Amino acid sequence: MEGVKYTGIPSAEELANCPGRPSEERMKKGRVACVECVQEIPCNPCEGICPFHAITVGDQITNLPHLDESKCTGCGLCVANCPGLAIFVVDKSLDGGQGTVDFPFEYLPLPQKGDEVDAVGRDGQFVCKGTVMAVTKAKNYGGTAVVRLKVPVEYVDQVRSMKRLPRDVG
Ligand code: SF4
Ligand code: SF4
Repeated sequence: MEGVKYTGIPSAEELANCPGRPSEERMKKGRVACVECVQEIPCNPCEGICPFHAITVGDQITNLPHLDESKCTGCGLCVANCPGLAIFVVDKSLDGGQGTVDFPFEYLPLPQKGDEVDAVGRDGQFVCKGTVMAVTKAKNYGGTAVVRLKVPVEYVDQVRSMKRLPRDVG
C-alpha cells in the first residue's frame, strides 16, 4: 500500500515523537517496554495483551500505541505478540555500566544463554558484542522467541537484534 511501510526502519525523528517510548528516567529505573511502532496501521494486539493496561491504542485502531511507563512492569509479554516486531524491553539499571535489551527473534538456530553474539541495530548493522542472558519461547508465541542481550548501557538505545547464527550443517 503506497505510503504505508510495515517493515521500514524508523527515523530518528519518528522515534523522538513516538508515544510508545519510555523516558530516560524510567529506563534507568529498570525493565520497561519500548514500543517503537511509528506507522499508523490498523493493529492493536499490544493493547489487549498487556496485563497491566500499560499500552493504549484506543478506538481509532490506526492510532500509534501509547505507553504509560508508570504502569509497565517490563514483563515482556508484548514483545513476541507484536506482529510488527516493534516492541522491545530495555533496562538501563544494571550495575557496571551494563544494560539489557529484549527483542523478538525468528531465526533458527536460537542462541543459548551465555553465548557471546554480535548485537545489531535497527538497520541490521553491527553495534557491539552482547551476552545472551535469556531465550524465551512461550507456547503462545508461535515462531517468535524473545532474546535478552546484555550490552554496554550506552548501546541500549541502538541494539535491537542480533546477527543470525550459522546453521548447523553437520
Ligand atoms: S512489558 Fe508487560 S507491562 Fe510492559 S507494556 Fe509489555 S506487556 Fe505491558
Ligand atoms: S501490536 Fe505491534 S505493530 Fe501492532 S499496534 Fe501494537 S506495537 Fe504496533
